[in-house]
Parts: sequence; structure tokens; C-alpha cells
Amino acid sequence: MVAAVGADYYQVLGVSRTATVKEIKKQYKVLSKKYHPDKNQNGNDKEAHDKFVEVAAAYEVLSDSEKRSIYDRYGEEGLKQQQGQGQGFHDPFDIFAQFFGGGHRHQHAEQERRGPEMRLELEVTLEELYSGKSIEIEVSKQIVCPHCNGSGARSSEDVVTCSTCQGHGVRIVKHMLAPGMFQQFRQTCDQCGGQGKTIRAHCPVCEGTKVQRGSEQLTVVIEPGLADGSTIVFDREADEGPDVIPGDVVFEIRTRPHSTFERRQHSLYTYVTITLEQALLGFDLEIKHLDGKPIKLTRGESITPYGYVQTMKGQGMPIKGSRGDQQYGDLFVEYKIAFPETFSKDQRSLLATAFGVQAPFDETIQGSIPRQQQVLHDEM
Ligand SMILES: [Zn+2]
Ligand SMILES: [Zn+2]
Repeated sequence: MVAAVGADYYQVLGVSRTATVKEIKKQYKVLSKKYHPDKNQNGNDKEAHDKFVEVAAAYEVLSDSEKRSIYDRYGEEGLKQQQGQGQGFHDPFDIFAQFFGGGHRHQHAEQERRGPEMRLELEVTLEELYSGKSIEIEVSKQIVCPHCNGSGARSSEDVVTCSTCQGHGVRIVKHMLAPGMFQQFRQTCDQCGGQGKTIRAHCPVCEGTKVQRGSEQLTVVIEPGLADGSTIVFDREADEGPDVIPGDVVFEIRTRPHSTFERRQHSLYTYVTITLEQALLGFDLEIKHLDGKPIKLTRGESITPYGYVQTMKGQGMPIKGSRGDQQYGDLFVEYKIAFPETFSKDQRSLLATAFGVQAPFDETIQGSIPRQQQVLHDEM
């Protein structure tokens, strides 16, 4: 990776030379999000991309206490010499994925010992899935003891060569098959477990277990229109252990049921109850969308029957991946009608007049319309 020559890593991240790792992480998150190529698709791609790479390089150096102290003393040149063997910088997108998930999963080599995957359900609201949101989550996990760096020893002097195997990790065992005839074989040293080293005094922090409880703050980015059941993967962020590559942390998105809207893929469904007058005479009303904006519902020219479904084009869920010109699904509004329990005498007579009938059981009001009993099923 190329980092601009002479770039001051502290300036790149906009932190002081005494900044804590926490502050460095925080700044990295802000800047990497700002310069991520996905957010800079118009015009200044190149510049943003270079910035993104530079921010990742600065973060990589300053978040690692060893690299940071070399950088502080000898600058970028010092780092280059130390990394001499072509190790260089990590892929800036991998660093980004550590914080925001969704990285390209690594092909894991067969011989790698990997810790178990940590699967966590993350319940989000429909509002969050509609508008998008960044959710900060503190994940409690096992970390390699920072005091002894996972050696389990009080200090490096307390790690001593195993006296049983002289540091070879194996012992040659002779087995007599017959008088004067020996079979030799190698056996893993049981004193040091094949490590070749034993610990004289244990680390006071982890008591020799090499690990302790810790946590990592991860930012889960809910993109607008993310599907229920989607997974967001944070590469190698699960429990740490000595000699083990941590497994991934996987968040599985679950949608909390909503009181008004129901989602089916890109479509949204809702019920609206109107009055009988509104059903018959039309209406002009508003409901609130998931982002709080009003949705105008208007019916004028025709009667709205019970169960009528009105389609609101483009008022559904955002369609994920349709960047730039964001596309949306549709909203389907189904109407229910709240019938009144009774009408007053006056209302009944006005309705009867309006429909040109006489209401049964009513006293004749004007006497002009003859009372009739309607016979249903009169064909029988
Ligand atoms: Zn040994
Ligand atoms: Zn320790």
C-alpha cells in the first residue's frame, strides 16, 4: 500500500501526539466512513480513495503500540526498515471491515486454527431499516491478556527453557525390544506440552491463563432497505486466544414487529380506518411514514369500499443497492370503515331522501314515498 510520502499520521487522523488508542479508533471511524469509496461516487473519487488508504495506514500504525513507538522515534523510514520483509500494510478495506463489518471474507487456510464464530441476533426497528442507522455495539469477549501479551508469564524472564527436554519440545524415548535391540522414538515433552519452554512465575493479571474478559466496540451499519435475516460479518472479532485466530462476529438482523406497518420485501402494508362519511363522500387525510414525513391519502371521486387497497407508488421500503438514484418499493394502504352505531332521526330521514327510499320502521315523514317491504329471494 502506498501512503503519501511524508504524511504525518497524527495529522492525517487529526489527533494529538498523546492521543489514546480509543481516540485514535474514534477518529479512524469518522474519517474512514467519510472517505469510503462507496460514499464518494461522484467526481472526487480518486482524492477520496487516496485519503481512505492514508487514513487506514495511519490507523494501522498508531493503533499498534509497537509500530507507534517506532514511528514516534524513527518516522516512516523506521517502519519501512522494520517491516522490511515485504509485510507492509494491510488492505485498507479489511481494516474498515473490522469496524463496520461486511468485509470480503478471507479464504481460511486449512492449517489455520480458528476460534469459534460468535453469532449475535440484532433486533432493529422498521424505522431503522427504512432510514438506515449506525449502531454502536460493545461486544463482550475473551481477549489475549494485554499484560503478558498472551505468554501467561509474569515477565519475559519468567519464561524459561524446559529442563526436561532442553527446549526441544520432544524427548527421545528408547524402548528395548529384545536384549541389545532398541527402538527409538520421539515423544512430545509432557513437562512443557511440546512448547520447549515453561513458566517460572505466572502473570498476575491473568494468573497464567493467558486470556481475560474484555470488549470491543463495533459499529453495525444498517443500510436503508437491509433485508430481515441479513448478516453483517466482522472478520476475526470473536473471542481471542493464544495461538488461535479469532473467529468472526456475525450479526443477524431481526426486525422488531411494528405497530402500524408490515414489511414484505420492498413493499409496506398498513391499515387505515375511515368513517362511513369518509367512505361515501371522500377524504383528504395524512398518516405518518417511518421517517416521520406525512403521507397524503386522498379519495374524492368514488366511494371507498371496505377492504379497498390503495397503492402508493414509491412509498415502500428503500431498495438496497440502488445508490445515487434511490429506488423504493410501494406502500399498500387497506381501508377499514368504522360504521356509526346509530343515526339520529333527522339523519335517517335525510339519508332516506338522499337514497330515494323510505326507511323501514320509520313513521312516514313526508308521506310521499310509499312504504314497501322488500322481499328477498322472491324467486323461491
Ligand atoms: Zn519440555
Ligand atoms: Zn497475563
